[in-house]
Amino acid sequence: MTNLILLGPPGCGKGTQSKILVEKKNFLQISTGELLRNVVNSDSDIGKEISKIMKNGDLVSDEIVVTMILKEISTHPACSFIFDGFPRNIIQAEKLDEAFNQQKLKLDLVIFLDVELNILKNRIEKRIRESNSEQVREDDNVDILLKRINTYKEMTFPLLEYYRKQEKLVCVNGMETIDKISEKIALLI
Ligand code: AMP
Repeated sequence: MTNLILLGPPGCGKGTQSKILVEKKNFLQISTGELLRNVVNSDSDIGKEISKIMKNGDLVSDEIVVTMILKEISTHPACSFIFDGFPRNIIQAEKLDEAFNQQKLKLDLVIFLDVELNILKNRIEKRIRESNSEQVREDDNVDILLKRINTYKEMTFPLLEYYRKQEKLVCVNGMETIDKISEKIALLI
């Protein structure tokens, strides 16, 4: 079994590449963004709180996302995982390391999808243009994207050094075509 993290700024293609790996290589994708959107759609009090945080481009509390992740890992014991959007800060990365150690699992690879930050704005604008109004994510607008990029630079970017030290980090140019990127990822795993 192979366990991967896909790391990169918002809009870098983590979700797209995860879905390709699910289809072609039988991975189980764990996307904290999708798990959180499910809670938001459940219309509960906690969902309303999470919705405000997401609409604002901030990070949801470590306690909530780490609890979600631990539940996903323990309910799918024999799977190869792709973590998409998790971890997003050092505390979350340490919690994942702890959980993996306790459950005798191994994190094999962290793939960083490298996309220049000014290209992300064009991608989000395209994503909005191409979605119908029901599909547009509440946090898909340029102002929130800029906020999310700042959150990324401050909180998530330091993870590159964290995983470089663990000798697990590989960089892939995320500005090539979807097919090219997925070919490169396939060669890594
Ligand atoms: P994503 O779908 O990965 O782009 O995430 C959408 C939003 O969900 C983010 O902007 C955060 O508000 C929240 N979120 C997703 N993953 C995490 C995480 N690991 N930690 C905290 N907040 C998260």
